[in-house]
Amino acid sequence: MNRIAIIGAGIAGLTLARELGDRAEVVVFEKSRGFGGRMATRQADPYQFDHGAQFFTTKSDQFTRFLEPYIEQGHIARWDANFVEIESDRIVSARCWADGPAHYVCTPRMNALAKQMASGVDARLATRVARIEASATGWRLYDQAEVSLGDYDWVVSAIPAAQAAELLPADFSASSDIGLKHMLGCYSLMLGFEQELALDWQAAFVSKADISWVSNDSSKPGRPDRYTLLVHSTNRWAENNIDLDDDSVTAFLQRELTRVIGLDVSSAEHVALHRWRYANIGRQQGEDFFLDCDQRLAAAGDWCIHGRIESAYLSAWRLAQRLQREL
Ligand SMILES: Cc1cc2nc3c(=O)[nH]c(=O)nc-3n(C[C@H](O)[C@H](O)[C@H](O)COP(=O)(O)OP(=O)(O)OC[C@H]3O[C@@H](n4cnc5c(N)ncnc54)[C@H](O)[C@@H]3O)c2cc1C
Repeated sequence: MNRIAIIGAGIAGLTLARELGDRAEVVVFEKSRGFGGRMATRQADPYQFDHGAQFFTTKSDQFTRFLEPYIEQGHIARWDANFVEIESDRIVSARCWADGPAHYVCTPRMNALAKQMASGVDARLATRVARIEASATGWRLYDQAEVSLGDYDWVVSAIPAAQAAELLPADFSASSDIGLKHMLGCYSLMLGFEQELALDWQAAFVSKADISWVSNDSSKPGRPDRYTLLVHSTNRWAENNIDLDDDSVTAFLQRELTRVIGLDVSSAEHVALHRWRYANIGRQQGEDFFLDCDQRLAAAGDWCIHGRIESAYLSAWRLAQRLQREL
């Protein structure tokens, strides 16, 4: 049986592991201590924040079919938020998501789906793949301490493009294409309040401002009661300020939020910031995944299609269907 190393335990890596697990010996390596990647949740008792992906929609039949059992089992639910669009500091449209196509979230937190998907998968958490070297039989992986992580016939990357370009061997036929994928940064500001704020909406897209998204994160189904706001900077502001110190970023985003929603948020009891260097990417042309059958190397992820959960899933699922023919 072929041995396959999958790098990354976000939705793409776990999709690959589940699709290939019947035909190969699969090991997933994940540098974090938990599953989910950018489908991330931060606990800060009594508060909880989804500080990466906020919600997801589904357009393809394949992703819809994949979600069905998880919806039935209650790991995914609709988030029927009152939604507004804000231009600078003015609400320009409002609607309730209950009245249209589903906006899904994982319950009781965004990383819950990945945890379910990882069940039965041989995954090594807190293990960063730092180097990949050709070996007599295929590829040998090493961690940061130069300890061998074993020999594999195939290596499949499911990590953001810049990290994949750095890690995968230069003789991967897709190396230069992957190097051209430019993912954009984003800051997440997490605010926890003892008292609810007087907002009559729970989710907002913001334009003509330096923040792009505000949500009352605790309004998602299954969340703890304590009131939270989750704010994303625009990609542009993050890119221009990616090396700014955390205190300055936090202060700026709090001021910008106050201006945009017209409410003073300085009463927040809990304030935290997360910097995403590789958060999103616009819609891409070309391959949905990269595969080099001679070198037995492959790469998948949202960055092949569009910076969305559905795209990450589809990139990995399509790669897995193609790879199954090689095993
Ligand atoms: C702030 C933000 C907001 C977003 N909002 C939305 C949204 O509302 N809706 C939506 O659909 N999408 C959204 N997205 C995008 C969505 O989160 C991603 O498309 C999706 O989660 C990508 O999944 P993935 O498996 O391809 O990659 P990731 O989730 O990035 O998983 C890659 C994994 O690889 C691990 N890793 C990296 N390098 C190594 C290494 N060397 N060794 C071992 N492990 C490694 C990482 O720790 C990570 O867990 C958002 C993303 C961010 C950051």
